Amino acid sequence: MIENYIRNLFTLEGKVALVTGGGRGIGQVIARELARCGADIAIFSRSGAPETVKIIQGEGGRALDILADVTDEAQVASGIAQIIEHYGHLDIVINNAGVCYHKDIFEASVEEWRQCLEINLTGEYIVCREAARAMIDGNIAGSIINIASVSGHVVNIPQCQAAYNASKAGVIHMTKSLAIELVDKNIRVNSISPGYVATPMATDPAFVEPELLAAWQPLFPMHRMAKPEELCGAILWLCSKSAGYTTGADIIIDGGYGVI
Ligand code: NDP
Repeated sequence: MIENYIRNLFTLEGKVALVTGGGRGIGQVIARELARCGADIAIFSRSGAPETVKIIQGEGGRALDILADVTDEAQVASGIAQIIEHYGHLDIVINNAGVCYHKDIFEASVEEWRQCLEINLTGEYIVCREAARAMIDGNIAGSIINIASVSGHVVNIPQCQAAYNASKAGVIHMTKSLAIELVDKNIRVNSISPGYVATPMATDPAFVEPELLAAWQPLFPMHRMAKPEELCGAILWLCSKSAGYTTGADIIIDGGYGVI
């Protein structure tokens, strides 16, 4: 009985979910978990998501790998058209694609600043717009979840990442704005703000110097980073009908990082 009750609240059977940046890291885990909850998955990335597709198909799910740069309006529109052609509709979007660099105001070029805002903020805006268009055309009650960051609420130390922080603060307020713009279209728009999550972006020496990792460690109230799986319960809830009255919300999942 409990099983049926929970299944009825949270099942994503019959839903189609787009996960941008689903080829690795947080996006890969979200895509896998949504597939486990019954959703058919589509992924946008620039370099492809064969590993994610293999994982999902290996577990009996359905996944579609689409090459689309979220900053390119034509590629996003064509990617969404491919989803509609393949699956017939689009119900859920996880706007997850993002980048980060650690450079101070004098080291970072304006081009790097622009690129960070372009991918993290404008890219999410373009995907929101094109997905909302498809949802409205299909008469779908949609759910869009934008991946923001605790960096949109507080300033991480000791690294300098003004562009990243500004882009994520922008995502949080864009989410609230679009929630209101789209409320009468039956589309809910929410965001989640993770703290540090153990993915290449936060752990790979190619992106993060070991000294920085050592400096971060004492700042984690839980003495560790999040596992990507620890974001998925909130995401599943926001996707599901049990969050039918939730829009314009931002859920912080940071192990307490932002409150001290
Ligand atoms: P990763 O670097 O592991 O993955 C980023 C993904 O985004 C890749 O699949 C990449 O694929 C894709 N991507 C990047 N640029 C584009 C683009 N222009 N168009 C389409 N896809 C793109 O990062 P994480 O998994 O760690 O991060 C995922 C999200 O979570 C990001 O928005 C990040 O800011 C956010 N976040 C991460 C935290 C962390 O500590 N890891 C903390 C808080 C938030 P490809 O290169 O093939 O395009």
